Amino acid sequence: MRTLTVFAQLCIILCLSISTSHVNGSDEKPRVGIVGAGISGASAAYFLRELFGDDVEIDIFEKQHVGGRLAPITISGHNYNAGGTIIHPANLYMINFTDILGLTRDTNPEPGRLGIFDGEEIVFSTSDYSALTIAKLMWRYGMDAYNIKTWVQEKILKPLTRLYEFQKEGHAFSTVEDLLNAIDPSFVEFSKKSVKDLFKGEGFSDRFIDEFVTGAMRINYGQTSSIHGLVGAVSMAGVEPGLWNVVGGNHQVPQGLVKKSGAKIVRGKVTAVSLTSEGSPPVYQIDYLPGRSTNEDDMNSKEYDIVIIATPLYNDMSDIKFEDFQTSIKQVPEDFHLTVASFIEGEPNTTYFGVDSVDSLPNAFFTTNESTFFNSFTKQKPVSGETAEKTVYRVFSNKVPNVNELKQLVPEWSDIRVVNWMAYPEYPSSVQLPSFTLHEQMYHINAIELAASAMEMSAIGAKNVALLAYYRYTGQYDKIDEILTKSDGAQKSEL
Ligand SMILES: Cc1cc2nc3c(=O)[nH]c(=O)nc-3n(C[C@H](O)[C@H](O)[C@H](O)COP(=O)(O)OP(=O)(O)OC[C@H]3O[C@@H](n4cnc5c(N)ncnc54)[C@H](O)[C@@H]3O)c2cc1C
Repeated sequence: MRTLTVFAQLCIILCLSISTSHVNGSDEKPRVGIVGAGISGASAAYFLRELFGDDVEIDIFEKQHVGGRLAPITISGHNYNAGGTIIHPANLYMINFTDILGLTRDTNPEPGRLGIFDGEEIVFSTSDYSALTIAKLMWRYGMDAYNIKTWVQEKILKPLTRLYEFQKEGHAFSTVEDLLNAIDPSFVEFSKKSVKDLFKGEGFSDRFIDEFVTGAMRINYGQTSSIHGLVGAVSMAGVEPGLWNVVGGNHQVPQGLVKKSGAKIVRGKVTAVSLTSEGSPPVYQIDYLPGRSTNEDDMNSKEYDIVIIATPLYNDMSDIKFEDFQTSIKQVPEDFHLTVASFIEGEPNTTYFGVDSVDSLPNAFFTTNESTFFNSFTKQKPVSGETAEKTVYRVFSNKVPNVNELKQLVPEWSDIRVVNWMAYPEYPSSVQLPSFTLHEQMYHINAIELAASAMEMSAIGAKNVALLAYYRYTGQYDKIDEILTKSDGAQKSEL
C-alpha cells in the first residue's frame, strides 16, 4: 500500500513536469503577447489554449475594439455588419466557432435578387423563379454560370478540405507559399497571374469575366479582375448557395473566442516590439501606450517568449516599430485598399437603375465599370434577423462619396452612417507570398491576407501560427514544414 502511494506520488511529479517543462528546460509558463484582437488574434488565442492547455499566459493588445474589421453599426435601433459580412458554408473554422460559442447562423442573410449594373443600365438580373434565372444566365453567359460552380468546387473547395485535414493532423508551415503548396500547388500558380488571365485560360468568356467576375471583385475587394487569381478564385466561391452570417453580428465570434481562451485583453496601442535577448529561447519586449493615451510618459512594456502580430503590418493601420532585430521586418502588405461603407436609411431611386418600381429592383447590385462611383449597392438585413421598419442600403465605394452621388441612389434619407475601412490589401496581378515567421518565436498571421483576405483565412492563418509557436516551444520541429503528398496526408518528408 505504501509502495503504491510512493509510486503514485512519483507519477504525479513526473506528469506535472511533462506538462509544464519544454525544450528550453524552464518550468515557467510561456508568455504569449498577441497584437490585435480581431478574428486573427482571437482565434490564435483560442488555438493556443487548445494546444498548451493551462500552461500558457496570453495577453492580447488592442488599441480600438475587440473584433477589428468585424464590427456592428446601429441604425434606427437595428444593428448591421459594418465590415466583414458573409461567411461561406465550407468555412469550417467559422462554423465550429459559432457552435462552440453557442451562436446561431443566419443562412439567408442576403436578401433576394442580384443585378449587374454597368453604370448605365442593368445588364443582368436574377429572378425570383430559379428556372427563369437559369434561363437568363444561359442566355447571357452560356455554360459559364454553371461551369464556374463546378470549377470553384473542384479547384478551390475540394483542395481546401485537405487543409482542414492536415491542420487537424497538426502540420504547420513557416510561409504562406508552403501552406498553399501543401493544399494544392495550383494555388500558388493562381497567385502568379491575374484573375482575368486565370479564367480566360480556363475557357470562360470575356463577357462573363468582364461582368460577373469583375462585379464580384468590385463588391468583394473594391478592385478589378486584374487582382491575382488566387484571391479572385477564392472570392468566386460566393457563387455557391448557403452563405451565412452570425445572428446578432459577426463581431460576437472574436469576442467569444477571447473569453473562451482565457486571454487577458490589454487595452492600448503597441508602439514597438524589440528583441531583448537574442539567446535560445529569445525574449521579446512589447512597448505600448495604455488605453487611449498618446503621452509618451505613459509608455509601458512587458516581456514575452512568443509574439504574434495579428494585424496587417501596414503602417497606417498598426504603426509598430521593430527594434534590435538583425534583419529588418518588412511592412506586409505594402498597400491597403480603402473601402467606404455608407449605410443609408431610405427608399432607392428606381429611375437611376431604369426600372419603374421598387418591386422590380434587384436587392443587391454590383457594378462593372471603374468610372461608376460605387462598387455595390445592397439592401441590408439587420443582424438580428428581424425586418427593419425602414429600408437600409449599403453602398461600397473606393472613396468617400459626395452627397449628390449618394442622392442618385437614395434621393432622401432619414439616417446615414459612413465607415471608412482600411479594408484588405491592394492586390497586384502576381503576388510574392510572405512568411508567417518574422523571427524565431515571432509570427505574423496577416501574412495570409496576401493570399486572400477573409474571416476564414484569418482563422486558418491563426491555427497555423499557433501550431508553429507550440512546436517550436516544445521542440517538435519535425511537425514543421513537412511536404504532404496530394494523395495521402500521412506520406511526408522533410522540406
Ligand atoms: C468592408 C469589409 C467587408 C468585408 N467583407 C467580408 C466578408 O463578407 N467575408 C469575409 O470573410 N471577410 C470580409 N472582410 C474581410 C474580413 O473582415 C477581414 O479579413 C478580417 O476581419 C481580418 O481580421 P484580422 O483579425 O486579421 O484583422 P483586424 O480585424 O483588422 O484586427 C486587427 C486588430 O488589431 C488592432 N491593432 C492594430 N494595430 C495595433 C497596435 N499597434 N496596437 C494594438 N492593437 C492594434 C486593430 O485595432 C484591430 O482590432 C471584409 C472586410 C471589410 C473591411
